Amino acid sequence: MSSNGFNEGSQPVFREQRRSMVEQQLRSRGIHDHRVLTAMEEVPRHEFVNREQWEQAYSDHPVSIPEQQTTSQPYIIASMLQSAEIQPGDRVLEVGSGSGYQTAVLAALAREVIAVERYPSLAEQARATLVRLGYENVTIVTGDGSLGAPQFAPFDAIIVSAAAPRVPPALVQQLAIGGRLVVPVGDSSQQVLELLRKHRDGSLTTHSLEGCRFVPLIGEQGFAA
Ligand code: SAH
Repeated sequence: MSSNGFNEGSQPVFREQRRSMVEQQLRSRGIHDHRVLTAMEEVPRHEFVNREQWEQAYSDHPVSIPEQQTTSQPYIIASMLQSAEIQPGDRVLEVGSGSGYQTAVLAALAREVIAVERYPSLAEQARATLVRLGYENVTIVTGDGSLGAPQFAPFDAIIVSAAAPRVPPALVQQLAIGGRLVVPVGDSSQQVLELLRKHRDGSLTTHSLEGCRFVPLIGEQGFAA
């Protein structure tokens, strides 16, 4: 047994923690999409954080990861994914994959996930975790995700996990007809989660969903470094 009290035999404990996370943090706050709830009950969130943080892995807040970043609060991830209405046949772009936790949930929901991460070290670690856990429909690239991933576009859904000062035009451009873009927009201290939908005639509608707080999107169509 490790010093923090968790070891490989802790899997049933984590399974139980995931079940109560789904009930108490997600379902009770209005997350009703079965596919999202099931995926979040399955994906082992603790595998994406350092062992010292295993005890916090399923708690109701963001958890620190290297490079002074965080893996987002489970509820806000569920809310973004439910709003994006991810379908089993979708190709999805994730901007800011960080630990790779949300990437794994997306991989369980969609056909293919392209994820962009600014820090090579985080991209490398997320890749290793996803391979170890057997996710095969994921490609993580290092770069400025505020510009999207034009070589892989168009996308049925785009999820931005970092705060943007405005909706990045490159991402709107890379959205397929019928596509959904979920992005936190605001200043560096608080934002509103925006849902954009691209219609058949190319027009866009935007809905403001809820207040949130993300680390900044640093890049050409984000904040300056
Ligand atoms: N969903 C992730 C959240 C990570 S926090 C998780 O669950 O772990 C947001 C991430 O966005 C950070 O890792 C940060 O490095 C990354 N990021 C910030 N600006 C970026 C940009 N322009 N392109 C790609 N990634 C970016």
